[in-house]
Amino acid sequence: MSVETHPEPSATDASPAELIRLDKVSKRFGANTVLDQLDFSVRPGKHVTLIGPSGSGKTTILRLLMTLTKPDEGTITLDGQPLFPAPEKQVREVRKKIGMVFQQFNLFPNMSVLRNITEAPVQVLGLSRDEAEARARELLEMVGLADKCTARPTQLSGGQQQRVAIARALAMRPQVLLLDEVTSALDPELVAGVLDLLRDIARSTDITMLCVTHEMGFARDISDQVLMFDGGRVIESGTPEKIFSDPEQERTREFLGAVL
Ligand code: ADP
Repeated sequence: MSVETHPEPSATDASPAELIRLDKVSKRFGANTVLDQLDFSVRPGKHVTLIGPSGSGKTTILRLLMTLTKPDEGTITLDGQPLFPAPEKQVREVRKKIGMVFQQFNLFPNMSVLRNITEAPVQVLGLSRDEAEARARELLEMVGLADKCTARPTQLSGGQQQRVAIARALAMRPQVLLLDEVTSALDPELVAGVLDLLRDIARSTDITMLCVTHEMGFARDISDQVLMFDGGRVIESGTPEKIFSDPEQERTREFLGAVL
């Protein structure tokens, strides 16, 4: 079986071949090999969803890209620049191109909503506070929370907190948005609103998205490519139509049977 993890650009496609590239990436925690010689790449503007059973290494990939953890072997590049291995100074520069939204929101509890969004653009990108606030207000408008600038995260619902976290990630104008099970911690009635917001972002921006989710309807809607993980490897990849309607691997069928 061939798993298409480094797609070739077509002759007519002028965009660079890949924005994210992992080559032979392995990650172990003690005796547990979580990622095993993993290869894959994502072209600019594409939306790629990682699916697979719990513990198959999906979150670890996002954490590697966010440089929250390091591989034991292999290379990772973003936009042609090394993220691993690379000197710390360069890693800090390259990482500015990546934003991440976490399952548990991870907002700063002691800061207002506005401050949560402006802090990194001011500290990391060097924007003036006025510029950062103007950008934050636009983003809060976009996520439907223009009236919550002065609220603290604890005064908001989970869905609202996640919208703030999405605005915070976008405030850095990243080229890549990493989404790690962003609706898993939400009450069921709040899930649809957050997914609709992400669908809008996927439709209306050219941001590259790498997404771990158990929301298969959402994955089907937004993905250009779906990668099925098992045991730290991509066992199957393809368009959502192919993976969800006509998977080749028994393991993929089993997994989808359990979650759909
Ligand atoms: P998934 O996102 O597919 O559910 P993860 O990437 O979160 O999987 O985890 C893959 C494996 O790595 C799991 O067995 C998990 O227990 C292990 N793991 C992840 N992070 C750590 C860590 N910091 N220390 C030890 N083991 C970890």
